[in-house]
Amino acid sequence: MKVLLVEDDDALAEALAGALHEAGVLVERADSGSEADYLVRTEVYDAVILDLGLPDGDGSRWLGQWREDGIELPVLVLTARTRWADKAAGFSAGADDYVTKPFETAEVLFRLRALVRRSHGHAHPVLHIGELTFDTHTGSVTLAGRPIGLTAQELRLLAYLAHAAPRVVSRSELVEHVYDRDHEPDSNVIDVQISRLRRKLGAEHIETCRGQGYRLIGGDAS
Ligand code: CA
Repeated sequence: MKVLLVEDDDALAEALAGALHEAGVLVERADSGSEADYLVRTEVYDAVILDLGLPDGDGSRWLGQWREDGIELPVLVLTARTRWADKAAGFSAGADDYVTKPFETAEVLFRLRALVRRSHGHAHPVLHIGELTFDTHTGSVTLAGRPIGLTAQELRLLAYLAHAAPRVVSRSELVEHVYDRDHEPDSNVIDVQISRLRRKLGAEHIETCRGQGYRLIGGDAS
C-alpha cells in the first residue's frame, strides 16, 4: 500500500510516517496543499491522509477540487479541530473518513486499511482467495490454514495481488503501488520477487498471464 501523507507539522508527520512504515505501508509526504495537489495528479497512491489546516489553504478546499476533477482516491482527513462544522466541510468536500488529533496511530492504520479494502470492493477484513487467506488488518497470510512468513516487500506484493484478485495486475501497476518512487525496480526485480513468493506459496497460486502481468489464484478450493 502506498499512501500520500499531507501534513505540515513536521514532527507529527515524521512520527506518523514512521509508524505507518513500520506497519509495511509506503509513505510519501507533502507539507502543503499545492505539493499534494501536484503529487495526486502525477503519482499513484492507494490513499491520501490529509490534514485540514495547511499553510496554503484549507485541506477541504484542495480535496473538493480533486473530487471535482474526478480524482477518486480514498481520503482520510486528519485534523486537530473538533468542531462539527469543520468535519462537515471535510465530508462535504469528499472525505471518506476522519480522525481527530490527538490520535492513536493504530486507529489511523485501521481506518486506512478499511478504506483501501473498500476501494477494492471488499467489505470483510480477511480476504479469501481459494485456500489462501490474507488478513488486511494483521497482514498475516495463511495457506490451507498454515501461516506463511513473508518479508515486508513480499507482503506488500501479495497484499496488492490479494486486493486485486482475481484481476490480472500488470508489472507497471505493481511498480506504482508496491515500490517506493525513489526505488522503482526494473521488471527483472519484480520477476525475482514473484518467484520468491511462488516458492513460499506454491507456484500454482500466482499465475503469469503473458504480456499482461500476474494474478493470484486460490488453487483447489477456488
Ligand atoms: Ca496543520
